[in-house]
Amino acid sequence: MSQPTFSIIAPIYNEIGNLDELHRRISETMAKAGGAWEFVLVDDGSTDGSSQRIAEIAAGDDHVRPVIFARNFGHQIAVTAGLDYSRGDAIVIIDSDLQDPPEVILDLIAKWREGYEVVYAGRADRAGESWFKKASARFFYRLIDRLTSIKIPLDTGDFRLMDRKVVSVLNSMREHHRFLRGMSAWVGFKQTGVEYKRAARFAGETHYPFRKMLQLALTAITGFSFFPLQVASYLGFVSAGIAVIAIPVVITLRIMGNQAFFGQATTLLAVLFFGGVQLISLGILGEYIGRLYDEARGRPLYIVRDAPETPED
Ligand code: UDP
Ligand code: MG
Repeated sequence: MSQPTFSIIAPIYNEIGNLDELHRRISETMAKAGGAWEFVLVDDGSTDGSSQRIAEIAAGDDHVRPVIFARNFGHQIAVTAGLDYSRGDAIVIIDSDLQDPPEVILDLIAKWREGYEVVYAGRADRAGESWFKKASARFFYRLIDRLTSIKIPLDTGDFRLMDRKVVSVLNSMREHHRFLRGMSAWVGFKQTGVEYKRAARFAGETHYPFRKMLQLALTAITGFSFFPLQVASYLGFVSAGIAVIAIPVVITLRIMGNQAFFGQATTLLAVLFFGGVQLISLGILGEYIGRLYDEARGRPLYIVRDAPETPED
């Protein structure tokens, strides 16, 4: 197929119950988009037969380009591969569980035609998700907003349209620990948003348990902020300051015969407190160093077992 106008990217991890419905609704929507399109399905090491189903769908529809990973590499990496393989002038990232209604793509395209280069879809409402998931997502977006200098629109996921110009820049950013929402805000360009109601999953269950959300939050924070590294020096200045004031006070009290600072409890508490602070600071350092190490090794971001062609073709 020659150069399509639109590329739709969907990362797939064990979504066997959603694939056909996703394909049907994307095809229906894109028929109204007014332009040639391709549908890049990235199989992120599924073990439920999704890979085979993707191959079958691709065999019956030449809009579909399957990229099959050798193992599970994670959502952000799957989307990255989709960006590498897509060839359109406008590229849309969408979840494969139909939580992002494919019909919203038409609104994204309308904004792109107005001249915007990044059109993100904001979640006005989230259906079918637990209280805990919503509250932690809310907290997560606000924390990142406070800690980092880039302005990531609140309550947006990866569901967005990006112009080829933006995707070319993103494709040149080969960091291993990726937070695409942050990266696509960081690059600048003309950005705008549309609102949509986030639906419940069509089938299956979330692959983002709390542990993975925490990992993503750490990636977002370490990827866009040095603040956690500086916390140790702030705490150091504060505790050194307290010590400088406390030393003459304690000496004076002792000389005057006051017994307020006798005993082990004060010593023990101070040792525990500062031991804790130091270990936490070391842990924070470790987070950054581990990430540095991953970058230094320079391994590929993902390994493809099967794809019709290389990204450059
Ligand atoms: N996903 C993926 N690899 C993973 C986990 C998830 O490609 O390791 C895909 C998944 O198939 C879905 C999208 O990422 O298309 C979002 O995942 P999910 O719906 O589980 O997350 P939630 O919407 O609950 O945050
Ligand atoms: Mg989902």
